[in-house]
Amino acid sequence: MTSRSESARIRQLLQGLTEDEILELMRMISPKFAPADAETRKKAVLPDPNEKKSTKRYENLKAAERRYFAEAYNESSELWKPLTIEDESDWLNNHPESGQTFGEWFTKEFPQHRVNRQRRTIYILPLGPFPPGHAGQSTAAAGATAGASTSTGETEGGASSSARGATGGAAGGAEGGASPSSRTDKVLLAWLQKFCQCFFLGVDVKFLDPVRVREVRCRTRINEHTKQWQLLSKDILDYLVSKKPRDAICLVAVTMLDLYPSDSWNFVFGQASLVTGCGVFSFARYDENFYYIPRDRKKAKKSELEEFNMPPVTSVLLLRACKVMTHELCHMFGMKHCIYFSCCINGSNSRDESDRRPVDLCPVCLRKLQEAVDFRLAVRFRAMLQYCTKESWDSGVPAPPLEAFEPFKKWLEKVLVFLEETPAAGNETPAAGNETPAAGNEESSQASN
Ligand SMILES: [Zn+2]
Ligand SMILES: [Zn+2]
Repeated sequence: MTSRSESARIRQLLQGLTEDEILELMRMISPKFAPADAETRKKAVLPDPNEKKSTKRYENLKAAERRYFAEAYNESSELWKPLTIEDESDWLNNHPESGQTFGEWFTKEFPQHRVNRQRRTIYILPLGPFPPGHAGQSTAAAGATAGASTSTGETEGGASSSARGATGGAAGGAEGGASPSSRTDKVLLAWLQKFCQCFFLGVDVKFLDPVRVREVRCRTRINEHTKQWQLLSKDILDYLVSKKPRDAICLVAVTMLDLYPSDSWNFVFGQASLVTGCGVFSFARYDENFYYIPRDRKKAKKSELEEFNMPPVTSVLLLRACKVMTHELCHMFGMKHCIYFSCCINGSNSRDESDRRPVDLCPVCLRKLQEAVDFRLAVRFRAMLQYCTKESWDSGVPAPPLEAFEPFKKWLEKVLVFLEETPAAGNETPAAGNETPAAGNEESSQASN
């Protein structure tokens, strides 16, 4: 036992155990997560030497890329930190997982999850209303909705009627299928799309036309604790299966509404099926204002589901949305939760824990994604750095609020310097014929960004 609060809890539980309590007790006394040592991380990132195909592919990587992957077992890496438990409630403290090495992923998941000509698009379906652009944005629609953060949950008022106005024009004759989306709603989706395009460099990321909640016909409820609307995630998954395009790597729905997987659960951040390649996840609980919407909701109307008043997008919400989206999409490539590093695909039990996760994949997990998608590391890092740089956003899509991306931007700059450094002689045993300088042919292999 590690803490007094645990022993007090056990004493309390022993007074009359229910089955759930016994399970809780078992979790408390089960072995705690121990951080992976360098040897384990080395085995996790390198290909299985008996597996010829992946070994050959690893040898054919650029030397700088292999040097980056070797950071996985560099004890003094300045780029990556092994995963540690920082709070009793952390995911791995409560859900013991054994992880997934590159070799395990390559043998089991690579064949069905690699991107190829027939299967090279991630489809994202916005479900229900989305917030307007961000507070500082100067478009008229964003201005009109800027006051919505203090909304009382009523569906009337300047903000939502402006959104409705925009729908009338945009929806045309589309029979209930188009969303109540104003121009600025689409800006948020464009920011998310662009981020995914950088993260999964080389894959097409397409947003489908938004759908209304009523079109999905999912069951709904008002959560008794938060007094917020929730959608039954299982029903959404059933709906998605019928909509999945043929060339889809996966189809995922994103929503600002809260989700629940079954009546007995309080909520869920997201749910996905690797079998069907469909998933749904919610940004609701990543919004600072989620818990502050007034709780007296006796007269909640179902129409709120279509025209929910939402605050403008903050930089923090955008960052969280990018992180949860890439995390969930990585699962769609057969990737399991990472136990080796503090990594974008660590499991998470709370918003705090999700906030602690870095934006990018650790070397072990990035190696899997690189095999599945086939990109050059430096090109991908540069694309993400551009995303985080306000000046690189030109006409078309206005720059997102990027303040929260600043630490990530600094980290990317450090990584790019690392990749461009010439390793000290003797440190490196380059594979023959593979020493192309960073700048040369790298750009040509990836045209998409
Ligand atoms: Zn996950
Ligand atoms: Zn990882």
